[in-house]
Amino acid sequence: MGENDFDLLEPLPVRPDEVAEKEIWHPLWHCFCCQDTGKIQLNLVRRVIPSYNYERDRLPICQNCHKGHDWFHLNDLGVIDTRLGPQICRKLNNIAREDWRLTTQIWFEMVKQRLENATEEITSEHNLRRRDRISEEFILAKKKHELARGDWEEIEEDEEEVTEE
Ligand SMILES: [Zn+2]
Repeated sequence: MGENDFDLLEPLPVRPDEVAEKEIWHPLWHCFCCQDTGKIQLNLVRRVIPSYNYERDRLPICQNCHKGHDWFHLNDLGVIDTRLGPQICRKLNNIAREDWRLTTQIWFEMVKQRLENATEEITSEHNLRRRDRISEEFILAKKKHELARGDWEEIEEDEEEVTEE
């Protein structure tokens, strides 16, 4: 190894992308069954009670997390439904979690694609504007030069060259 050579190292990000990504797409709730409301999500309820009517029927209470306890005192009033037990709720939780994973994956791909498209657009727009600006400057410089020379007729292509970069 030469005197000025080093053993190369991999960069050490403070927060690896994967972690950051997970944080962005992590939901605000802990329980996927009730989204921490204690009430089982409507679309999940309908997997067990297909003809469930939110207006008419008792509220199925989550038994996958402790949030459901907030509702249990209403049991005597006959407004809650406790038939969807811990096992069912756990199953619903897993289904909803998988749904979320798939949905966020699709979202993520969409957002990424949109960002890429937007970046491409901005880049090409920027280049167009840049090209316009350069040709405008070129024409202006040429005019000034011609004015100074008192020459309005003759346009020499090799003068006042503006080179890119
Ligand atoms: Zn819950």
